[in-house]
Amino acid sequence: MQIDRKARLKIPFQPVPKQDPKERVKNWDEVYLGYDLPTAQLEATRCIQCPAAPCIKACPIDNDIPGALLKLEEGDVLGAAEVFRATNPAPDMCGRLCPQEALCEGDCVVGKVAIPVAIGKLEAFIADQQQAMGGRPIPQLPPPTGKRAAIVGSGPAGLAVAEQLALLGHGVKLFEAWPRPGGVLRYGIPGFKMDKRHIDDQVDYLHQLGVQFAYNVRVGYDVTIDELFDQGFEAVFLGQGAGQGNRLNVPGEDLEGVYMATEFLVRANLPPEELPSHLRQPIESGKRVVVIGGGDTAMDCVRSALRIGAREVVCAYRRSETEMGGREEERRHAQEEGVLFHYLTVPIRFVGDDSAHIKAVRFQRVELGEPDESGRPRPVPVIASDFELEADTVVIAIGYKVEKLLFQTTPDLKATDWGTIATEETGQTSRPGVFAAGDSVRGADLVVTALADAKRTAAAIDRYLGEKKSATA
Ligand code: SF4
Repeated sequence: MQIDRKARLKIPFQPVPKQDPKERVKNWDEVYLGYDLPTAQLEATRCIQCPAAPCIKACPIDNDIPGALLKLEEGDVLGAAEVFRATNPAPDMCGRLCPQEALCEGDCVVGKVAIPVAIGKLEAFIADQQQAMGGRPIPQLPPPTGKRAAIVGSGPAGLAVAEQLALLGHGVKLFEAWPRPGGVLRYGIPGFKMDKRHIDDQVDYLHQLGVQFAYNVRVGYDVTIDELFDQGFEAVFLGQGAGQGNRLNVPGEDLEGVYMATEFLVRANLPPEELPSHLRQPIESGKRVVVIGGGDTAMDCVRSALRIGAREVVCAYRRSETEMGGREEERRHAQEEGVLFHYLTVPIRFVGDDSAHIKAVRFQRVELGEPDESGRPRPVPVIASDFELEADTVVIAIGYKVEKLLFQTTPDLKATDWGTIATEETGQTSRPGVFAAGDSVRGADLVVTALADAKRTAAAIDRYLGEKKSATA
């Protein structure tokens, strides 16, 4: 039955049920409980099927959103999943992790007169339903090409490149520095945002495509890129991400109880057996936790701190809420869960007790001045405005950069001025046969942009391997 636009616009927005904040801080389960099928179909029917579909253009991987939602509306959930999967290797993850308000939903035409269609939540619902109905069909693979590619890092970019190359008949082996696969998906994103079974599902699928995995191998240290070529790999993809936390460089940063965000997050929300031996000791829950930073990682840290039993959690940020970089939804969730926000405050010193353990953070108040190189107003210190906050745990979450190791051990691998890997549009680096994409090229960014870059780069690797084949045939 055809439903006209006016009727579609009259359907009210269908929110996704959520865990109550008081309950959810006691567990690591996802905040959103998910749609049921009739509600998801009703929400999908709010899509007015506009021919211009600006949502598609706003999606970094060009998902055919109206096409998928029409199939869901008609009750063809598996058909809807195939539409999303035609362009997106990880619709379950993107549906949960994309900042939809700045991407597809931000450009949704319905959003001009009402709440935009819940594209992300519907994408996640559709992918989850497909998984619950037995998962993706395993395609018939082409005959093996006899070419092998090594993938460094099993985060979003590495998994996506591995999938695409395996589907083209290439031999693929993924090298992961941590004990389990997933990179930032497992070790950076807490379970309350995305259940880790989504990573396991993707890895199971890749196993079925014949992809091999090696864990606890740090490429650049345990094995160099040149040694990978010596082992018979003919192309190497660098997708190790940007995992090294930026330091504040203020006195007292090395006190006991002061953590970098990654260490805090992994020790708080992963079981010891999924961690390297030096990180297996669970974090002791401090009563007063101060997190420095204002992006999504800072929100992950404050909310993780609550879940390991902190009584008071403060997020200290050097600008105002308007300039905060992360998702508004993540901030709202943190506020709902009881996190306190101190804006326009900059840490100037960490204060230790007699046993060199953190006991307080000394802050200075700032006000906003002229824009800096990021375009945001520069925080300007307010004279004689220092104050102290008691803290027995501090977490520094002020952004990430690319580790230097690979540049140090790979001759001729060029870096940009920002310390990321220099590549051409195709992902080709300065070393023949070595490609890179995702956060190691862009700096810390979104899962969906890493996937978009990975798809382009996998196509370039395939061309490169094809040319090598014809050259040696
Ligand atoms: Fe929206 Fe992200 Fe899905 Fe694209 S991948 S449709 S931006 S949620």
